[in-house]
Amino acid sequence: MPALRSSSLVRPKPPASAWRDAPWAARRSHLGRRGLAIGIDIGGTKVAAGVVDAEGRVLAEARRSTPGSDPRAVEQTIVELVNELSAGHRIATVGIGAAGWMDLDGGTVLFSPHLAWRNEPLRDSLQKLLRRPVLLTNDADAAAWAEWRFGAGQGESRLVCITLGTGIGGAMVMDGRVERGRYGVAGEFGHQIIFPGGHRCECGNRGCWEQYASGNALGREARQLVRTNSPAGCALLEKAGGTVDNLSGAAVTSLALEGDATSRELIADQGEWLGLGLANLAAALDPGMFVIGGGLCDAGELLAAPARESFAKNLTGRGFRPMAGIELAALGPRAGMIGAADLSRVSGRARN
Ligand SMILES: [Zn+2]
Repeated sequence: MPALRSSSLVRPKPPASAWRDAPWAARRSHLGRRGLAIGIDIGGTKVAAGVVDAEGRVLAEARRSTPGSDPRAVEQTIVELVNELSAGHRIATVGIGAAGWMDLDGGTVLFSPHLAWRNEPLRDSLQKLLRRPVLLTNDADAAAWAEWRFGAGQGESRLVCITLGTGIGGAMVMDGRVERGRYGVAGEFGHQIIFPGGHRCECGNRGCWEQYASGNALGREARQLVRTNSPAGCALLEKAGGTVDNLSGAAVTSLALEGDATSRELIADQGEWLGLGLANLAAALDPGMFVIGGGLCDAGELLAAPARESFAKNLTGRGFRPMAGIELAALGPRAGMIGAADLSRVSGRARN
């Protein structure tokens, strides 16, 4: 990553000239573009693809297992999915969303945690293979774009989206544009340190937000509670079929939805941490709305209500400023696919 400018006698230059034309810099002026696009969401375990129309509807879908971490094998899987889906539809563009950092013009994957992409010029190689304009974007950016265009964030000029999965993904749509920061790596909200010296995070630091408000954090808390051998822990273990390792975030969420009081408490704790982190983000970014998506959101208001309460309690200047809304995402697990497809259609790449 480029070194931060600490001091310089040189007048700072404006952002790279690519920023207005970059694929992720879609603007309202392009939104009238019609036609079908394929959106591909590359996850750690599966690659999901769909044909998406200009209204964000998914017309057809296909999926494969993520083929290990070999970049060539992942490319081949993408080609297979596009060939399969384009057999029955006329496809203009392809959008690809993956966890990781893309460079500012969207051509190169700088780093992807699940895959072996390191400085991988993925867009150009895929455009050659697919013979169509390809857009490459971060998966959280794609999901945020989809929620802004078709979901819970419609009409919001300053939108922050948070995806609560195994960790926390973050993205912003500001004034109709995906905001990527100066170097293309903005939105890593999950790694704000919220508890110095706290739980060790996969990023190497301690006390990151995603260690306190995510599916992984929920599962870890449940398993720790069981290991205390407290009455609540023993009752939870029984509900998990007697096997502590069954207590994933998803399992605790299901138990909570069935009415289990201890699971509901554990989710409320996650909600409190969520609201605290959102208050920090509001202090920095002042959005009009937060949209919260990802698997943990299956808990619905069991998570959102304590998050709103904690947000209101921790927000700087509370009582003297408008409060951002905290809403649950509307598009579910297809948001990344829909957003990647739509970005590919409305961005400059569609004109190539
Ligand atoms: Zn971290």
